[in-house]
Amino acid sequence: MATDTKIAAPVLISTNPATGETVGTYSCTSVDEVHEAVDIARRAQPAWAALGVQKRVAIIRRFRKLLNQQAGEVAELITREAGKPIPEAMGAEILVVQDAAEFVARHAAEILQPQPVPHSNPAMKTKRGTLHHEPHGVIGIISPWNYPFSIPSTETLAALVLGNAVVLKPSELTPACALKLQSLLHEAGVPKEIMQVVLGEGPVGAALIDSKIDKIIFTGSVATGRRVSVAAAQKLLPCVLELGGKDPFIVFDDADLDVASSGAVWGAFMNAGQTCLSVERCYVQRSVFEKFVNMCVKKAQALKVGDGFDRDTDVGPMIDTRQLRIVESQVADALDKGAKVLTGGERLTQLGPNFYAPTVLTNVTPDMKLMREETFGPLLPVIPFDTDEQAISMANESEFGLAASVWTNSRSRGEAVAGKIEAGTVMVNDAISGFGICEAPHGGFKASGIGRTHGLLGMQEMVRVRYVDVDRVVMKKPWWYGYKGMYREQIHGFADMMFGHSPAKRIKGALNSTKILTRPKL
Ligand code: NAD
Repeated sequence: MATDTKIAAPVLISTNPATGETVGTYSCTSVDEVHEAVDIARRAQPAWAALGVQKRVAIIRRFRKLLNQQAGEVAELITREAGKPIPEAMGAEILVVQDAAEFVARHAAEILQPQPVPHSNPAMKTKRGTLHHEPHGVIGIISPWNYPFSIPSTETLAALVLGNAVVLKPSELTPACALKLQSLLHEAGVPKEIMQVVLGEGPVGAALIDSKIDKIIFTGSVATGRRVSVAAAQKLLPCVLELGGKDPFIVFDDADLDVASSGAVWGAFMNAGQTCLSVERCYVQRSVFEKFVNMCVKKAQALKVGDGFDRDTDVGPMIDTRQLRIVESQVADALDKGAKVLTGGERLTQLGPNFYAPTVLTNVTPDMKLMREETFGPLLPVIPFDTDEQAISMANESEFGLAASVWTNSRSRGEAVAGKIEAGTVMVNDAISGFGICEAPHGGFKASGIGRTHGLLGMQEMVRVRYVDVDRVVMKKPWWYGYKGMYREQIHGFADMMFGHSPAKRIKGALNSTKILTRPKL
């Protein structure tokens, strides 16, 4: 039987949430050791950057090949440690990482390529600007347990290929998955000093932020994200925050209800509802509300809840009892306030302490906790609406803004509504799956976060930029004082040019006086 809590400091005991069996016992990293790990990474990073992008790309591709060879074994480890069914471990974790590895390998050279910065200020005519991209140095990554392999992997790969060292602090609930990532990277050729994992609970993450890292990439809850943001602000440490969501799912009357209800059921219950992009609030146009709800109930009841290793399992356990209790308390609050549970609404104790039935609720109102706070569990609350405007306003009535989905057979209606939803990703006729497109930037509006991971924007987060300005004509600039002389005329000439006026006499005078046309160029 699974235990109530998975943590026993100063060691981490990782347990299978379905069975309670021990996956592994690991020593926690001390605060001093965290600082030491970062110092080691700092010393090693210049050589990793100097290795050159092509050699790093080759290592990342070797990692991808190793992952491909060991995919079955890694999927089993993910299921053992996080509980999800094997097809979800393969589809939403390993496949995503394989795709991301190829993406970052393909784009690394282009990101690091210096880029000319053309400009049009006539007064700066002799200057040439170039943007240089370089690794930050040591990137700290703090990750959650719900995608224990894909989240730290995609972020780590992007950081490494661009020449950074990485110190990763995974969730205390899923250390084994992070250690597997580390061993695959080392086997592929990433030096041990360049990719290190530190283990422990929150204080180990806090120590990482306090160390000499150059940037922090944090994925987790809004509450912890705020703490991370405050700690980073004290040091003016740049950070990316990938936080929670309360994603709305809007079904219009012209949608294919069979497809949309399957999308809602999968979007709400995959990974036992423990996905940042889970469907958490379902809004359905009143004329099709009843039909849609009935379809969802039927489909939810057909799902098999069980151990992720069981071939018949659709929905695995929740990560632990603490998380399950949050779901129970939200359902209790909703029932107190008048909600109706149409199916589910209970623990499946016969399976173990961490299983909760896929649950569909109606009669829900905006004041209920399950409509305001992130649930992170298998709940699907469904609410009717009348007009498009009403659906948009209900969807936007949240402090979160991670993702949303809109269901309609009209592409123009879908895109028009998508344009009005306050979220970092809006999917039309799909849910969650946008995360599987490694080209698509991932991140939220409002309390759902700052910055992006994935895609070229995610890669850009892993480099800092230096603008190098070279003046090809060595001369004294006319604006280096002497304001009461010729410059007074000249600056008006430059302004005339900026506004497209034909070069007046005074601009000719300006150019001649500085003799920039006749000076030798560098
Ligand atoms: P969490 O915030 O409890 O923990 C996340 C990580 O932060 C863990 O590694 C934890 O040990 C560490 N941590 C805790 N306190 C810390 C501190 N003071 N300083 C530094 N690190 C600290 O989140 P969780 O329960 O592991 O994950 C679930 C949450 O993550 C959900 O809210 C979910 O929406 C969010 N999430 C977001 C995304 C996204 O991409 N936006 C993806 C997955 C999960």
